[in-house]
Amino acid sequence: VPVPDPDSAGFWESARSGVLTIARCSDCRRWQHPPAEACRHCGGALAFEPVTGLGEVFSFIVVRQATVPGHEAPYVVALVQLAEDAGVRLVGVLRVAQDVAAVGLAVRVELVRHEGEDLPAIEFVAVGPP
Ligand SMILES: [Zn+2]
Repeated sequence: VPVPDPDSAGFWESARSGVLTIARCSDCRRWQHPPAEACRHCGGALAFEPVTGLGEVFSFIVVRQATVPGHEAPYVVALVQLAEDAGVRLVGVLRVAQDVAAVGLAVRVELVRHEGEDLPAIEFVAVGPP
């Protein structure tokens, strides 16, 4: 379970209200994830800005022993690069059949609140034809 710290608190606050945001430098305008105290490129101040939640699968694995609440093995966990910046990657359960999972698959982020969990989970669904 993620534990928000001062750097990631803004991310989780937005996520709780169903909005995916990523830290962005107010000086050089680069996106940065995970969030930090300052921009790793120029040292500028970071602020959280909403993103589309669209992206594509960069890499994935099939989990055969369940460790994530709300999912029964086998399920797919993907590393997804966001449309805004290929260098910004998020990890989460990809809700597709194993044989549909593929590098390059177009996906969209969903913030899912599982029973008993305080924070939403980052999950992905396929968009467009598989
Ligand atoms: Zn910067």
